[in-house]
Amino acid sequence: MSEKHVKVLVLGAGPAGLAAALYAARAELNPVVLTGMQLGGQAALTHLIENYPGFPEGVGGAQLGELFQKQAEHFGAKVEFDMAHEVDLSKRPFTVKADSGEYKADTLIISTGANALHLNVPGEVEMTGRGVSYCATCDGWFFKDKKVVVVGGGDSAFEEALFITRYASSVTLIHRRDEFRAGAILQKRAKEHPKMNFTLNTVVTEIVGKEAVKALKLKNVKTGEESTFETDGLFIFVGHTPNTQMFKGQLEMSDLGFIKVNDKMETSVPGVYAAGEAADPHFKQVVTSAGMGAAAAIQATRFLEAEES
Ligand code: NAP
Repeated sequence: MSEKHVKVLVLGAGPAGLAAALYAARAELNPVVLTGMQLGGQAALTHLIENYPGFPEGVGGAQLGELFQKQAEHFGAKVEFDMAHEVDLSKRPFTVKADSGEYKADTLIISTGANALHLNVPGEVEMTGRGVSYCATCDGWFFKDKKVVVVGGGDSAFEEALFITRYASSVTLIHRRDEFRAGAILQKRAKEHPKMNFTLNTVVTEIVGKEAVKALKLKNVKTGEESTFETDGLFIFVGHTPNTQMFKGQLEMSDLGFIKVNDKMETSVPGVYAAGEAADPHFKQVVTSAGMGAAAAIQATRFLEAEES
């Protein structure tokens, strides 16, 4: 197994990681980015991003990820399709064990993002890929002229439900309350869409099917009434959990697993920075993640410069 020594190692290739790589590359620090499983991060799974500045008509999530990567590589960043699975932050250079071998890093920028939360109801695991999905861009096409349910009341649920209306004959959004977290524009669009229906104060208690999803068992949380709803597909958008398990016990984290950073993106270990959804319980936007990534790289640059002087 090979060992590589780098000045700046970036874990994760979403907006935060690729923005960090761009800034570190322009500071001539030859950063290496380990992509993990998802090049472009969660943003790459989004069909259309309408609120990243500079794209008045919106931009495809995957396309934006490619542009971020191209720009970082243009200035010398190396993007490796490699997965980190163990870190030692107890001494510098930091050690990161990845599929391809071991990295020694003078500074580390953690931008490992977040993973979709599950409902944790019977049938969910068995039916994933057989009608249960967490990615409309990936799987929406399979539901052409079919009945689909979307669970969740946030921006993701609304945005993705609207995307699925391109294919599905109907999209029923099921939400556990009667108020939504989603932004006003998305709510208005969805409520006005002829293919969209809403079932409120309701939770899914079971996913029914063998080879494919056939129906959902539902419960009204106000009345306790139980019912069965026939559907061909279930898309689950009930939030995300930060992908930070690898750093447990080595970095300070919140109870929910977000890495604690100060206003300079510094973690509890000098030389280790965190950016994007791994460290952001508040904003979770492409633009804020990219901003955090840039800030982390600027700070890593200053840290290395201070050491050299
Ligand atoms: P979110 O805002 O945390 O919303 C999660 C939704 O799922 C909430 O409505 C929540 O219900 C519901 N939920 C959670 N656990 C549930 C369960 N076990 N059963 C049923 N429902 C459950 O998550 P998100 O929509 O993924 O958005 C995450 C962040 O990304 C937000 O900050 C959002 O603004 C941002 N985002 C922005 C855009 C955009 O700007 N276009 C697009 C996507 C995401 P309650 O409301 O009752 O808690």
